[in-house]
This record gives sequence, C-alpha cells and structure tokens, in this order.
Amino acid sequence: MQVLFGDLGRHYRTYKTEIDAAVQRVLESGWFVLGKEVERFEKRFAEYVGVQHAVGVGSGTEAIHLALLAADVQPGDEVITVANTAIPTLSAISFAGATPVFVDVDSDFYTLRPDLLETAITPRTRAIVPVHLFGQCCNMSEIREVAIKYRLPVVEDCAQAHGSEWEGIPAGTWGLLGCFSFYPSKNLGAFGDGGMVVTEDDELAERLKRLRNYGQTRRYVHESIGFNSRLDEMQAAILDAQLDFLESWNDRRRAIANLYRQQITNPRIVLPKEATNAFHIYHLFVIQSENRDKLREFLLKRGVETQIHYPIPCYQQKAYAHLGVATGHCPTTERLAGRILSLPIYPELDDEQIIYIAQCINEFDQ
Ligand SMILES: *Cc1c(COP(=O)(O)O)cnc(C)c1O
Repeated sequence: MQVLFGDLGRHYRTYKTEIDAAVQRVLESGWFVLGKEVERFEKRFAEYVGVQHAVGVGSGTEAIHLALLAADVQPGDEVITVANTAIPTLSAISFAGATPVFVDVDSDFYTLRPDLLETAITPRTRAIVPVHLFGQCCNMSEIREVAIKYRLPVVEDCAQAHGSEWEGIPAGTWGLLGCFSFYPSKNLGAFGDGGMVVTEDDELAERLKRLRNYGQTRRYVHESIGFNSRLDEMQAAILDAQLDFLESWNDRRRAIANLYRQQITNPRIVLPKEATNAFHIYHLFVIQSENRDKLREFLLKRGVETQIHYPIPCYQQKAYAHLGVATGHCPTTERLAGRILSLPIYPELDDEQIIYIAQCINEFDQ
C-alpha cells in the first residue's frame, strides 16, 4: 500500500465541482484584487470564528507580521514565542523588526508553557505569540492571565488551528489578534497562498486594512506606510467554497486520530496527548519514537510517507544564529526535535490506510 503524506490532487478531485465553479466565477467577473469575494469570505470567516472582524492578507506569515505591526510592535522590541514552530512564526517577528525570545514547550502537548512566561518577560517585551501547534490550542487561560498582568498583547498563531478551541472558546479569539494561514496543506487551504487576521477591535481592523494595501485610506490617500499583502479574489472564492466543509473535515481528522490511538499498540511509541480543556483539530498527528529516523525509514520502505515538524529548534537555525541562544535553552523543544514524527492525517484518507500504517508501526521493534 502507498500512503502519501498529503494528497491535494485527491482533495481537488473530491471537491472539483465547488472549486471549479468558484474559479470560473472570479475569472468571468474580471475583478481579481480586493473585491466582493474577499469581502464575503472575510465576513463568513469572521462568523465562523465568532469575531467582529476578519482581514484577508497574503499569507499566514503576513498575518502575523501585520498583526504585530497593528499591535504597535516596534523595532528593537522583544516578542515571546516558542522555538518548536514553523519558521514563518519567526520570520514574521523579524519582519516587524522585533527580537524573538523563546520559552520552552510542554512535553505532553508540544505547546508553550505558561508557567515559564514570566521568566522571559523583560522591560522590552512587547507581545506574546503563542502557537497552537498541530491543531491543539495552547493553555490560553493561563497565558491570558500573564498577558493581563503585564499588559502585553497576545497575537495568536492559529496557522494550524482553524476550528480549534480552549475551554470551548475558539482559537484566534483569546488574544488581541488571531492569525490564520491558508497554505494549501492547512485544515482550510487555498490553492496558493493566503492568510487572515481576526480581531474584535474596530481600530485594529482598520489599521490592518491600511497595512495590507499600501497604507491607503481612500484611493491615492496614504496616511501611513503600508505593504502589498492581500488575499486575492481567486483564493478567497476557493476558500469560501470550502468553508462549509471545514467542520466535517476537522471531525474526520479527529476520527482518524482516534483510529490511530486504537490501532497503534506498540509500547515504544508515544502517542500525542489531548489537554482536557482543548478541542484538538489534528492538523498533524505527531508521535514520538526513541529511534525516529529508523522508524521513518521503516515506514517509507512500506510505502508510508511521514514528515518531521520540526527537526531543528528555531534558535538553532543558521538564520537565527545571531541571537546567540545557547544549546539547552529549551530542553524539551530540543529533545522533541529528535523524537517526533508526523503521520499522514487528512480527511481523504481511508480507514484501511490508517489501519495499515498502525500495523506497520506495531511491527517496528526498535
Ligand atoms: C503555515 C504556518 C505559518 C505560515 O503560514 P504561511 O501561510 O505559509 O505563510 C505560520 N505559523 C505556523 C505554525 C504554520 O504552520
């Protein structure tokens, strides 16, 4: 049996009618940037998340970047986040001119440890960027307590958390701003790049709309310096056509996760844990193995593709060597980097494929 890590071709073929209709509609409208499609999708996505405003931008990276600027993060400020994340979380902080400061993650949930936040706060701290990794929300109630105590804005990285919740409250609504990515492989994916910032704050939403569109308030009137970072009409139409399926896709991902849990019985394998207060939407299903690289090879020989999210803690990347963060700064993050393995998980997978993958893992005896 052959199991791909992702299969966007199969995804397109499954929803071809809806996607083709959306694309056709935009092509024939003759309007491609900031129009009706973006407006409609922003409105519907805001309703889905349960917020007042959603502002479509060019990518998830740009969502975080512009959100940090909207929250008044200035060059030289410090922004607290984790090193166990996709590098774009860091790119966005760097684009804003800020210095990332890393706190370690929980060994069970892979997310930011709120009890370490205070030790990372300095007079230069200007924001906190928790990352809801793999589809599970960070402990937002505790993070919010610290944020309130120090009057720090929280900018949530929800790139892997469309529909995820903490204490029944959706990801993206705990912080001042929530940032989503529509990279094709995310739980809600475009057929190209796209992103969204959500907020309850009218003034922040206006600021974001200026930032994404050359700082423009009215046509050819520019009150501040801006960027070109917009969700385009084609992607908005494709995303809107898929939004109604998101909940059922998340349900399917959770069902696959349950099936993995039932079927993987190898005592050497550590399965991912769900926090009791979290509603996990399984962007990724990440297991741990003492012999991760061998397991990966073993599975590949049996036709099963896997990935590693993420093999190198961000501060150990060459790009961030200038920060001079010492090895051992985030011990759990470093330890996980050598043990974690992401198994295929997407709505189009069949139960037989999951059972097959689990059987292969159960045969692995190292
Ligand atoms: C995908 C991702 C991003 C970046 O999103 P893009 O749309 O690819 O720019 C940021 N943070 C995390 C955690 C991600 O998974």
